[in-house]
Amino acid sequence: MKIAMVSEHVSPLADPGGGAGGQQVHVAALSAALVRRGHRVTVYTRRDDPHIRTEVATRDGYRVVHVPAGPPRPLGRDQTLPHLGEFGTFLRKHWAIDTPDLVHAHFWMSALAAELAARAHDIPVVVTFHALGTVKRRHHGLADTSPRSRIRFERLIATRAAHVLATSADEAVELVRMGVPRFRISVAPCGVDLTAFRPEGGMADRKARHRIFAAGRLVRRKGFDLAVRALPDLPDTELVIAGGAVGDDVDDDAESKRLRRIAVEHGVHERVRLLGQVSHSAMPRLYRSADVVLCTPWYEPFGFVPLEAMACRKPVVTTAVGGMLDTVVDGVTGKFVAPPEPEVVARAVRPLLEDATLRETWGAAGYQRASSRYSWDRVAAATLSAYRRAAPARASVVTDAGGSGRAIATAR
Ligand code: UDP
Repeated sequence: MKIAMVSEHVSPLADPGGGAGGQQVHVAALSAALVRRGHRVTVYTRRDDPHIRTEVATRDGYRVVHVPAGPPRPLGRDQTLPHLGEFGTFLRKHWAIDTPDLVHAHFWMSALAAELAARAHDIPVVVTFHALGTVKRRHHGLADTSPRSRIRFERLIATRAAHVLATSADEAVELVRMGVPRFRISVAPCGVDLTAFRPEGGMADRKARHRIFAAGRLVRRKGFDLAVRALPDLPDTELVIAGGAVGDDVDDDAESKRLRRIAVEHGVHERVRLLGQVSHSAMPRLYRSADVVLCTPWYEPFGFVPLEAMACRKPVVTTAVGGMLDTVVDGVTGKFVAPPEPEVVARAVRPLLEDATLRETWGAAGYQRASSRYSWDRVAAATLSAYRRAAPARASVVTDAGGSGRAIATAR
């Protein structure tokens, strides 16, 4: 099958620790897994660097096309809306010559451009939203920086798409609330690279007796402040946070400044380490160095960090939101904290710091769960069955690297 992935503001070639986050991991790893299954994948992303080649062939076998739309420099995800018309026009022209069997769009803006371009050629579009405007508005209220039209467009996209993929059961419920018929929604979770995120291997040095590790883009809704506020009740423990601004800029970053201020106010600044953006390949060493991995976002469509922690055999303490309701099993692989208060976080973390057997038991259960359910090959299989529902006539064809099509099964 010839698949066009559209990921307008997140390139699969970027590093996820800065602004790209989980969507980068998702698009790159899913594309690679689909190629391993014999499909041909091209990822379309906005050109944000004047020196980058228009087409790049990756080592994983998929191709990246850099779409000229707007200035060739990085733009915030809320700033690319005016360039979607240009982006969509490029896709429409490109697909007239090189027509994919199916388009898989990631995030609402990609979906908007993809829907317009695909309709001209009658190509089915599958959408993964990654995050929903309704949820963001609920949590951020007036501080929501998304374009005002986002929620309206998401409803329109969701009702027009051939199929919608939710990454968690929670997101599926949200989509139903938006008016998407249940039969047009499938849940295909995100996965984890089990060859990189594994219990065996080197680990980062630590400075205190205990270590809590947290990671993600350094934005307020990730709730890292809750982890900082819990520290006074967790003696002999350091909190290490990866993510956010790049390298030396970390001290200028607004959220890191806020977190440092909170750490000073709580008298724990010497035990909080903000690492800034860590390359994805260096992340497993950090997970392995921790006693507990802590995730306390306000909301989270999926949440790669808990899953990566589980794959490294670490217990996870997390807020009971989004994808974590599927990936983490309370009292088996980790602990849910509710309500999200510092004392509740400390109460959940403390037994794990004090009891190595509990850590190992929950870590082992998490590892078992991550490795048996969340490999990218499994996720690719779930995604392909959604493709089959969206495009029954086309999904049965596996295209090898040489491009010759051969039917492998009758699609259902
Ligand atoms: N990440 C990374 N370096 C960092 C911080 C995070 O590579 O310094 C990766 C992390 O390993 C995970 C992703 O970024 O794969 C974050 O995904 P998540 O779903 O937790 O959050 P998102 O950023 O998508 O909201």
